[in-house]
Amino acid sequence: MRTRLRIRVEGVVQGVGFRPCVYALATRLSLGGCVSNDSQGVRIEAEGEWDNVGRFLAALEREAPPLAVIERIASHTMPLQGDTRFIIAPSQRGLERNVFVSPDVATCADCLRELFKPADRRYRYALTNCTNCGPRFTIICDVPYDRATTTMAAFPMCQDCAREYHDPTDRRFHAQPVACPGCGPRLTLLDAWGRPVADDPIMQAARLIRAGHVVAVKGLGGYHLAVDATNETAVMTLRTRKYREEKPFALMAPGLHVVRNLVEFGPGEERLLTSPRRPIVLLRRLARAQIASATAPGNQCLGIMLPYTPVHHLLTRALDIPIVLTSGNVSDEPIAYQDDEALERLRGIADAFLTHNRPIHIRTDDSVVRSFRGTPMPLRRSRGYTPQPIIVPWEFSQPVLACGAELKNTICVARGRYAFLSHHIGDLENFAAFRSFTEAIAHFQRLFDVRPKIVAYDLHPEYLSTKWALDQEGVELCGVQHHHAHVASCLADNAEAGPVIGVAFDGLGYGTDGTMWGGEFLVADLAGFERVGHLATVAMPGGMAAIKEPWRMAAVYLEEAFGHHPPALQVMQRHAAQWQSVLKMARAGVLAPLTSSAGRLFDAVAALLGVRDSITYEGQAAIELEQLADPAETDTFNVSFQSTAHGFEIRAADLVRAVVDNLLRQVQPSAIAGRFHNSVAEAILHGCLTIREHTGLHTVALSGGVFQNMLLLERTIERLEARGFRVLRHRQVPPNDGGISLGQAVVASRKARVSRA
Ligand code: ZN
Ligand code: ZN
Ligand code: FE
Repeated sequence: MRTRLRIRVEGVVQGVGFRPCVYALATRLSLGGCVSNDSQGVRIEAEGEWDNVGRFLAALEREAPPLAVIERIASHTMPLQGDTRFIIAPSQRGLERNVFVSPDVATCADCLRELFKPADRRYRYALTNCTNCGPRFTIICDVPYDRATTTMAAFPMCQDCAREYHDPTDRRFHAQPVACPGCGPRLTLLDAWGRPVADDPIMQAARLIRAGHVVAVKGLGGYHLAVDATNETAVMTLRTRKYREEKPFALMAPGLHVVRNLVEFGPGEERLLTSPRRPIVLLRRLARAQIASATAPGNQCLGIMLPYTPVHHLLTRALDIPIVLTSGNVSDEPIAYQDDEALERLRGIADAFLTHNRPIHIRTDDSVVRSFRGTPMPLRRSRGYTPQPIIVPWEFSQPVLACGAELKNTICVARGRYAFLSHHIGDLENFAAFRSFTEAIAHFQRLFDVRPKIVAYDLHPEYLSTKWALDQEGVELCGVQHHHAHVASCLADNAEAGPVIGVAFDGLGYGTDGTMWGGEFLVADLAGFERVGHLATVAMPGGMAAIKEPWRMAAVYLEEAFGHHPPALQVMQRHAAQWQSVLKMARAGVLAPLTSSAGRLFDAVAALLGVRDSITYEGQAAIELEQLADPAETDTFNVSFQSTAHGFEIRAADLVRAVVDNLLRQVQPSAIAGRFHNSVAEAILHGCLTIREHTGLHTVALSGGVFQNMLLLERTIERLEARGFRVLRHRQVPPNDGGISLGQAVVASRKARVSRA
């Protein structure tokens, strides 16, 4: 029996190769009909034998291209029309503003096969791609997504490419960046002065890297710097030239066979490593790993990624060793992405440039993820993920722009049920990053057709993102407290609206009482929050100096725990000259802002345990404390809670007292660090139990940069779940300040609706 169905597919189904995929499926099942894009997604009419049409419907979701996100499939029968042929109908112009922009996609298996097949016309062609893979977000200048609006506009297709492009049965059907050696961009190798070098660029670059030189490599979202990761001198040279002291370098390995000799990984991590998004995955290094120690000094993890462009595949295969592949920049500047700019900024760092003439429109860093209980936990959401929307189960009342925080800034525009979170922009105090911030705002508004009615910002008056927001006219301005934004971002991440118990533990965020918060228990929904608990506040002597020098926090916490006569400890001897003046500063409250930060507590304990007294990158002391901790340790320290007018205060100094007590009894630092982690988890549990007693809430949202710590996250979740809590954690956006803009967007939208009602 024949039947005809009209099928509507909603979600992220445009610009991701969905129509060719539908076409292939329909043809395989001998169906007639058509597929087209419209303003809401993809529309299909399929006619054929009843069971084939059924099979087609069932396979749609299963066989969707990797980047498609299907939200809903609706179908109903319609009269037969006798179609025997299946066609891809042209999309209706004018409706395409609603088109989603695809993230960049790693080279697919088919393109890879062609790349290394001598008979193929794209054999060793370094810029090859197809509908299923290649550059997208990074080359799109405007919408609708068409070759003319990408940086491929300057490369007219040759006849062969045009044929593939127009053939619905071809893998390159409507692949906007399609190209070949005859018509597309070309790879070149430039020397340190920018002069082209003759010979095969890949082979020359490989030879230079093998000889210990630094080679700048143009990737999807910017330039990287590559050196032989097994060569200690080469890696040290790169550190010196980049002015990067200890922050770990990421590695690229030719394939899993090399990764196996470097780090431990399970099936969840393997899925992340090989996914078409190709993030950097943080993994525990093996003792036998042959990697220069300067790659990640003092760090037991390595950040690993697999090749994601044909250039990477060609280069790493030629080398067959792991290479350091780190952002092409000096110190904390944004990654270089324009060719002239790269030559200038990386002069003196790179000995050669492996580059090509396909321009990058948007600078995009590599994404960084960890795997937690087999699912991804993003630490930086950028290349491969941006600008795929976060889908929420409610409507944004009006178009929103959220400006994010100061460090790890991202921005977010939202409308309908979609929040478009930007790529990682960086630390705004850096001028180039601030310029990227304003450019990203303009680009995202144009790309996603969002003319914001509401502009959301952090309450910190000194954030450059806040100052920018307050300058905007003709929009409704909405300040969102930092930790409320953290909790809201976790809610949006999980498609929930609360109310929940929000636990926001991070470095610092501006509180509504003018102190710096960071160890917070909120009762929150999207519209508002109440601060019902927090770590007891302490002084941060020297402000910024206390962040850079964790020993200062140790001094403050020791005084909190023991008064004026703490036991003699090594950390005091190491800083004897400044110890008293720092304490004086703290007592007098001069240049010593008050904070309830959990991050600063971790810093203090790290300094007490001799992990480190000063840091060279954000979060370093806490990261090393996590790595020091013995995960087999099960003991906990006691910590007292005190009632306050609004709830409770956790006396974190009790933990410091216990840590010192253990130190004096010669307990191993790894055991003490383990107990400290357990104790913080225990304190969180008790905070949540107290709140549950008063409110009846039993869902907890965990957010803030401190929850990048997987040992703490694991210990906290296992305790909460054992006591019947439902726990929400981050899966799509980072728990750190990279997720703040999403939280701001959902809060501002909900607040505006509530105030109007
Ligand atoms: Zn491909
Ligand atoms: Zn061509
Ligand atoms: Fe934060």
